[in-house]
Amino acid sequence: MTAVVEGITVDETALAELEGAFRGQIVRPDHPSYEEHRKIWNGSIDRRPALIARCAGVADVIGAVKFGRRTGLPVAVRGGGHSFPGLSVADDALLIDLSLMKGVRVDPEARVARVQAGVLLGELDKETQAFGLAAPSGIVTHTGVAGLTLGGGIGWIMRKHGLSVDQLRRVDVVTANGEFVQATPEENADLFWGLCGGGGNFGIATEFEFNLVPVGRTVLAGPVFWPMEDSPEVLRFYRDWVADAPDELMTIVVHRKAPALPFVPEELHGKPVVMVIACWCGDVEDGEKAIAPLKAFGKPVADVCVPKPYLAHQAMFDPSFVPGRWYYFKSCDVPGLTDEIIDTTVEHSLKIQSPLTSFPIWQMGGAVSRVGEDETAFNGRNAGFTYNIGASTADEAGFDEEREWVRTFWSSLEPHFTTVYVNFLMDEGEDRVRQAYGPEKYDRLKALKRRWDPDNFFRINQNISPT
Ligand SMILES: Cc1cc2nc3c(=O)[nH]c(=O)nc-3n(C[C@H](O)[C@H](O)[C@H](O)COP(=O)(O)OP(=O)(O)OC[C@H]3O[C@@H](n4cnc5c(N)ncnc54)[C@H](O)[C@@H]3O)c2cc1C
Repeated sequence: MTAVVEGITVDETALAELEGAFRGQIVRPDHPSYEEHRKIWNGSIDRRPALIARCAGVADVIGAVKFGRRTGLPVAVRGGGHSFPGLSVADDALLIDLSLMKGVRVDPEARVARVQAGVLLGELDKETQAFGLAAPSGIVTHTGVAGLTLGGGIGWIMRKHGLSVDQLRRVDVVTANGEFVQATPEENADLFWGLCGGGGNFGIATEFEFNLVPVGRTVLAGPVFWPMEDSPEVLRFYRDWVADAPDELMTIVVHRKAPALPFVPEELHGKPVVMVIACWCGDVEDGEKAIAPLKAFGKPVADVCVPKPYLAHQAMFDPSFVPGRWYYFKSCDVPGLTDEIIDTTVEHSLKIQSPLTSFPIWQMGGAVSRVGEDETAFNGRNAGFTYNIGASTADEAGFDEEREWVRTFWSSLEPHFTTVYVNFLMDEGEDRVRQAYGPEKYDRLKALKRRWDPDNFFRINQNISPT
């Protein structure tokens, strides 16, 4: 027997068997919650899966994978739904949604956390911070732990404690055959290596185990603002100042129109500004000394870099990346901020139109660069800075123009590109995925894909094709 789901013919017997054994929820297109569950973070993505399997646990994931195999439906996998190009939802596909899998268990003595695949960064932080601990993660609380970790995971404490994958101990995986395996540096070590940056290519991660690091509950952190017209001097000073920064210091530079937030002086609202946002994860007094030269440079128009709860700083960017707005990104790594790169950056930043566009330049290095390039699938450990040129509008209005701004700006940096972070790619095709990993690592990942997913069952992702 067959059923027609959203115009797709689905094997009714297989669907009944899936539903009979399923602990979570199967959402068909006529279900009242379908619209809610097909939505992802980037509002410009509007796709209609044939079915949404909202898994409650590993057994549901195994059932959903076997159902996908049996019916031949393409399979999309969703953790936190924050893929820039929307690679966690697809038209006419089976969407395996992990967002119900919210378990976090912290062992404060062993300093280890077990984290299920539907957990968001802010949820993990709240559990670990109860003990003054943290797992290195990213800078927006509603991002998914799963997708972020599988791509590498860069964030505020990475220069001191490494990437998310540098503190990863174990991943539980449901393979393309629906088998459950564990991957650690000792067990299925090849798979573990690939999961540390190779994305969702090798299976569905159902649980992660991280080492936790002591960060305490307070960091010295926040932005210092200057008018954007001062950016050529600010960036030249900044480049020299961070050149020999200690690992405790991590910074992100943002160019944007100043948001109407309480700590931004009213006369600046809507005016172009450059901000250097610092996060010092060490002794606060030492941090105050280290950050003093930045605060004293030129004539800052606002300075809210102060001691604050780690949880508050982790949420600082949330208002800039609200779910449902329209987003577009292009990214690249550069070795350093040369005069030419600085001038190009300022020239294009002054052309930002949308009041919502806010693009970060990430300071890399520190602990990230001290792990060997071949130790994980993550590539780009020697990057100096990561440009994540992003545009944002409230909806369709003005989106095309802002996207064009991104493309033009990104192209003008092309002579300086080195690597690119796979989690910051749009849907840019195989050549760009190869560039992200570099040819040697890409070949190694291809061989791994042939071993763990020879049919390319998991292909709605930054795909590493087995052939
Ligand atoms: C607002 C925002 C802030 C961000 N900040 C950072 C940051 O600070 N640091 C950083 O490193 N990155 C950051 N990113 C990029 C982020 O790492 C990627 O978008 C990442 O893919 C998001 O993971 P997710 O689980 O939310 O996404 P999803 O869209 O659910 O998944 C992304 C990809 O991973 C696959 N996937 C998801 N879960 C699994 C799983 N359990 N098993 C197998 N495959 C899976 C999906 O199929 C998809 O291909 C940010 C993105 C956004 C939108």
